[in-house]
Amino acid sequence: MAESQHHPVTRRAFLAVTVAGSALIAVHPYSAFAGSGQAHLRLLETTDLHVHVFPYDYYADTAVETVGLARTASIINHIRAEAANSLLLDNGDFLQGNPLGDYLAYERGMKDGDLHPVIAAMNTVGYDAATIGNHEFNYGLDFLMKSAAGAQFPIVLANIATRSGAGARNDTTLFRPYTILDRTVTDGAGNSHPIRVGVIGFTPPQVMNWDRKNLEGKVTARDIVTTAEAFVPEMKEAGCDIIIALSHSGIGAAQASDGMENASVPVAAVDGIDAVMTGHSHLVFPSPTFDGFAGVDVAGGTIHGKPAVMGGFWGSHLGVIDLLLERDGNLWRVLSTTSEARPISQRNEDRTVTALVDSDAAVLAATEQAHAETLAYIRRPVGKTTAPLHSYFALVADDPSVQIVSIAQTWYIAQMMSGTEHEGLPILSAAAPFKAGGRGGPDYYTDVPAGAVAIKNVADLYLYPNTVRAVKVKGAELKDWLERSAGIFNQVTAGRADQTLLNPDFPSYNFDVIDGVNYQIDLSQPSKFDPTGKILNPEAQRIVNLAHNGAPVEPAQSFIIATNNYRAGGGGAFPGALGDTIVFEGPDTNRDVIVRYIVEQGTINPSANANWSFAPLPGTSVLFETGPKARDYADGIAGLTLEDAGDTAEGFARFRILL
Ligand code: MN
Ligand code: MG
Repeated sequence: MAESQHHPVTRRAFLAVTVAGSALIAVHPYSAFAGSGQAHLRLLETTDLHVHVFPYDYYADTAVETVGLARTASIINHIRAEAANSLLLDNGDFLQGNPLGDYLAYERGMKDGDLHPVIAAMNTVGYDAATIGNHEFNYGLDFLMKSAAGAQFPIVLANIATRSGAGARNDTTLFRPYTILDRTVTDGAGNSHPIRVGVIGFTPPQVMNWDRKNLEGKVTARDIVTTAEAFVPEMKEAGCDIIIALSHSGIGAAQASDGMENASVPVAAVDGIDAVMTGHSHLVFPSPTFDGFAGVDVAGGTIHGKPAVMGGFWGSHLGVIDLLLERDGNLWRVLSTTSEARPISQRNEDRTVTALVDSDAAVLAATEQAHAETLAYIRRPVGKTTAPLHSYFALVADDPSVQIVSIAQTWYIAQMMSGTEHEGLPILSAAAPFKAGGRGGPDYYTDVPAGAVAIKNVADLYLYPNTVRAVKVKGAELKDWLERSAGIFNQVTAGRADQTLLNPDFPSYNFDVIDGVNYQIDLSQPSKFDPTGKILNPEAQRIVNLAHNGAPVEPAQSFIIATNNYRAGGGGAFPGALGDTIVFEGPDTNRDVIVRYIVEQGTINPSANANWSFAPLPGTSVLFETGPKARDYADGIAGLTLEDAGDTAEGFARFRILL
């Protein structure tokens, strides 16, 4: 079979080597001390690459030190040199997740015989096998299969079928469920022995919801753990010495439940699996993140006693599992294991980031052309906006830069709720201005003029790589969510002029505007919450005239609110968003959702609709500061009566709002 012919692993053990231009490399003790009939096998993992090959942030249009397979590849080269025998595996989510991926899917396309640039890079690094992550389905099955066809390594995926049978073993799977790598390993005495390594792959069955429009009627998904239990005995019967699970699934609950998304702990418990590559949740294992998880031993790098690893995301780390194997009759058995995740960069005390390795030139060369085309793509218009997208007035009025985020989030969550038990509930969206002056200075605002919108503008609209979430809340929580937001304003005295509006201790990213309801903020009332979210005045009510579809919001009424993982998980301690109300965890970043919305719509019209405003306080005025370029837009802000009040010493423009 093809797998047995490429990458035969026949490296010799050594104590130390120098790689040209780099430091002395210490050999792993397993390679140094393996005896006759014992072999050191090293399993290397990349996961969640998301098309990151160059160390480049295409949204910000700038080089970065923290990402890129070209960097990870340098570590791979070093690490291969440290071990007598190694296998390199990818754990999925390689095809989508940055503008290079979007460029290939939306602009250049994949024709039969085309080589996808990230596959070209992976071929250059030399993988032994890979699995499919949930994001591989984002551009449809045709794009996926054409891209996968270029891989010079087997791709395995056991739990997605084009035809579902009576059980997992009777399915016609989209990819082969597993592969058996017939390799040769060198033992401590320098003798070669055959070894059969089984590699099986899994992806979250939630893809059927997340990519419903690409997958419905075409494929079906099975539970990860029961699929593993079905196939592993067959792999054992086929003579596998060791079996590796490529689990594109996070490290979560120890208890298996049907269809669970983060199933890597129960997967590790499956009899016959010897090592687990995990991923999907973009974290690092072993790391203290997983201290105290049932079944997980962070110090030992194991789950249920089996070695496990998670190599970060975007090429940030290389996962490394070391196995010391011993020949046992005609089979190999695992004697002991270690596990680690090696980073490509380090964060310094002054918050700067230093690369720990150089990019591998051959890997860069494999994607150089696509990289250059992607730079042109992010700098060129992909859509049009009929309204300017600026954040100069985002803290004092309904605002187009926040509106576009909510429009896109609502569009996406409406698709995700369709066909679920939550279909039909009103869908609202929460979004906050991220770039709104303050400590960022008078130029720190979003400012995209009407007309062409480029991909790199989206980074300006959505600063953080958050992922989309939806929460289900009651009307009472919705109101308190807004009360929490309204804590950004100082209390004002009715009838007094020129009072300072904003509390400088309240960050703008915690000023959530909720779209889909109408409300006013009564600044004469005290804030219910302090800037950290603690209740200050339990009876205080700043939010007035809160209405949905023209009718007052009832405390017991149910709503879906589209938001991000930070807020939904309790970031900012918002009522209704403390981690216990999440009904949808999207795999997509809010940025991706905005890009998709713009690309699909062509022309967007994000004019603010003045769904919120300050309650009138006749004879009262407040002062607030914004960027001097706000003057270009100050005449057209719905719901505000503004007067220019000069400049501040720090270079901000000051405006007076007549309440
Ligand atoms: Mn991922
Ligand atoms: Mg609005």
